[in-house]
Amino acid sequence: MGCGTALRASEGGMNTIIIDQSDMGQGASGVNAGTLSMQIKRVKLMPYAIKGHDMWQKMGQEVDFHKTGGYTLAFNDREADLLHDRMTMKKEAGANISFVSPAILQEKEPSLAQKIVAASYCPDDGYANSSLTGQYYRKRITQLGINYMENTKITQINETSTGYEILSGENRIQTKRILFACGGWLKEAVSLIGEDIPVNARVNTVSVTERAPRLMNSVIGHATGLLTMKQKNNGTVLIGGGWQGIGKPSEGRGKVVMDSLIPNLQLAKFAAPKLAKVRIVRSWTGFEANVPDFYPLAGKLGKRDNAFILGCVRGGYTIGPYISSLMGDYILGKEPEMPLFDPSRKFEQGKLI
Ligand SMILES: Cc1cc2nc3c(=O)[nH]c(=O)nc-3n(C[C@H](O)[C@H](O)[C@H](O)COP(=O)(O)OP(=O)(O)OC[C@H]3O[C@@H](n4cnc5c(N)ncnc54)[C@H](O)[C@@H]3O)c2cc1C
Repeated sequence: MGCGTALRASEGGMNTIIIDQSDMGQGASGVNAGTLSMQIKRVKLMPYAIKGHDMWQKMGQEVDFHKTGGYTLAFNDREADLLHDRMTMKKEAGANISFVSPAILQEKEPSLAQKIVAASYCPDDGYANSSLTGQYYRKRITQLGINYMENTKITQINETSTGYEILSGENRIQTKRILFACGGWLKEAVSLIGEDIPVNARVNTVSVTERAPRLMNSVIGHATGLLTMKQKNNGTVLIGGGWQGIGKPSEGRGKVVMDSLIPNLQLAKFAAPKLAKVRIVRSWTGFEANVPDFYPLAGKLGKRDNAFILGCVRGGYTIGPYISSLMGDYILGKEPEMPLFDPSRKFEQGKLI
């Protein structure tokens, strides 16, 4: 989101610099499941997800974009009711979602379980390869001549009469404005200028299998939101669903937890029984930031005119390119095309999905 904002601000004529504590795109944006699914987006964020999806589509092959269509499954009547309620709301919010009979699903995806009682379909759903995010943005940033510093963790920020002095080791950078787009590290980062925002970091798990014969053609999800699954062209299956590992952003990478990983894989196997014969090659975690109401932070930080924050976007991989273009416009002093999300709002406890 930081890179996307810098691109927009730079295109608008602003002199920008990107500072990242790691290699570019190695935070959540580089380790996520890559699902670009309208069916797992929150209703209020749907217009942003639709625009973000279009931007990924334009990036195309460079990010390994695929529009496969996607099915969300229900295995019993309770899940079918949940699916119906959730997808109806998402459809009303603009997503191209319809309900399909188990017979049609069986015809399109013959390797899925026979026990499916209801399913929804969105032809726009698909995926991209998140490990290409950093590479893609580095290329665009280089083309525009934007300065960037990698492996440069910001450890101190001094407020000056003209803006900010940003310190990292021997480096001292003077800026007029600053945007905090630090993902799971946001709480720690804004504390450097004395701000406190209730940002939590979820520790989401993703797994990848060995190459397997074709088991599915579309992105597969579950009514509860606890499963996402897609088979890449090379035959590997990527399995996610937000199952939690352990760890804190301040401690480095999180860790996979068996008690959480196993039910995630069991749910995947329940949906696609032939997965039972396919081995998992690797499981990993990444930090996904959120605030209690699970809506984004996008706007001015505190009462400052020249400090901004962008993060905590549910489905932030899908929405990221678009919301960061809005943020870029805002920093340029233009009216964004869609509303931002006031970081100083009172946070009510919200729902994850
Ligand atoms: C495992 C996982 C699976 C997910 N799956 C999906 C999915 O399938 N579909 C979807 O739409 N969304 C998904 N998400 C959500 C999505 O990945 C995130 O919402 C989005 O990538 C967040 O982008 P960001 O730029 O805010 O944060 P990040 O990508 O984490 O970037 C933050 C950057 O800030 C840098 N930074 C932090 N602190 C400092 C500092 N002090 N100094 C300098 N640099 C600093 C970090 O190095 C990092 O590069 C998933 C998230 C995770 C973790």
